[in-house]
Amino acid sequence: MVYVLVTESNETTAELLTAAQNWVENAPASEWVRAVWVIPGPDVIDDETIADKVRFMAAYGAHEVLIMYVNEVTPVLGAVDNLATLAKENPAPIIVAANPKGTEIAARLAVRLNSGYLADVTGLSPDRSGGFSAAGSIFGDVYELTTAVFGPSPIVALRPGSVPAVEHPVDTEVREMVAFADSAEDTAPDARVISFTPAVKQARPHLAQAKVVVGGGRGVGSAEAFTELVEPLADLFGGAVGVTRDVVDEDWYLGTYQIGQTGVSISPELYINLGISGAIQHTVGVVTSGTIVTINNDEDAEIFGISDFGVVGDLHEIVPALFDELRSRM
Ligand SMILES: Cc1cc2nc3c(=O)[nH]c(=O)nc-3n(C[C@H](O)[C@H](O)[C@H](O)COP(=O)(O)OP(=O)(O)OC[C@H]3O[C@@H](n4cnc5c(N)ncnc54)[C@H](O)[C@@H]3O)c2cc1C
Repeated sequence: MVYVLVTESNETTAELLTAAQNWVENAPASEWVRAVWVIPGPDVIDDETIADKVRFMAAYGAHEVLIMYVNEVTPVLGAVDNLATLAKENPAPIIVAANPKGTEIAARLAVRLNSGYLADVTGLSPDRSGGFSAAGSIFGDVYELTTAVFGPSPIVALRPGSVPAVEHPVDTEVREMVAFADSAEDTAPDARVISFTPAVKQARPHLAQAKVVVGGGRGVGSAEAFTELVEPLADLFGGAVGVTRDVVDEDWYLGTYQIGQTGVSISPELYINLGISGAIQHTVGVVTSGTIVTINNDEDAEIFGISDFGVVGDLHEIVPALFDELRSRM
């Protein structure tokens, strides 16, 4: 058996279930996938939405869906409490998404379960001992790694976009459970979440899940140029906008869109970057992208070293011309 922590995004959930399915097919004595869906409630999410999501999970190979209702304002701690209790009673590997929420849950779980944890994994294969052998890269893709994690409940955070989702319909058993603990009371007596203010969301796809990302760096030059050049190019592809830390420091774009070591790691099919020099702290977050296209006026910029295609020139001239050309072909 393997646990999969269900995410809000169906796309990411399908990828996690596919990775789990591949694992159970090849690992000895681990025939089934248990999807754990931690949601606020009961009665916060309507029955139809729940039924739709369960059907979706069945199509991607969840043999069992455990719906666990937790305190509405502490979903992270609720997931940690419930997964830890499940895994203590029934040890098995746990797969979560390598997004901010998933990695926080994974790290806390690793401590709770005294278990090994592999972060930001891009591929998974079973290990003969019942653990995982995982692929990843370090130092800006200079080294590719295969790492193994052991213990009764090894934990893996899988990078969204790295394992293509494949349908695998199965019969699914659904069980609803009340949370094992009220995490706000039991887990964090010194810190209590009293409210959430939802982040302002763009209509564009989520940065970590977008198939196309247009990244802008300091070379873009101003907040206005993001609105005039970077966002329209992203929208042409139905893609997301990402930025470097320097852009965030300049206050040209929100920090939630930062890519890199201290931001979001991405694996889109296409990453177009504009006016980005290619510091290791940025490239480490983009090297697993499918195709990387660079526009930069410095032919010696480091970013060309990881690019599949490059244009040397002023982005303020090239991007409008590229935009017009692309639009005429669409
Ligand atoms: C601990 C730590 C963590 C960090 N984490 C991150 C992180 O997560 N993400 C991140 O991005 N950075 C991070 N950084 C910052 C990182 O080191 C770099 O400073 C940053 O990535 C550089 O951003 P940039 O490429 O936008 O700017 P620059 O390095 O200033 O590059 C701008 C580029 O634009 C080009 N350019 C200028 N004008 C034009 C033009 N008109 N047309 C075309 N090209 C043009 C220039 O030739 C240059 O190559 C971190 C740094 C530290 C110390």
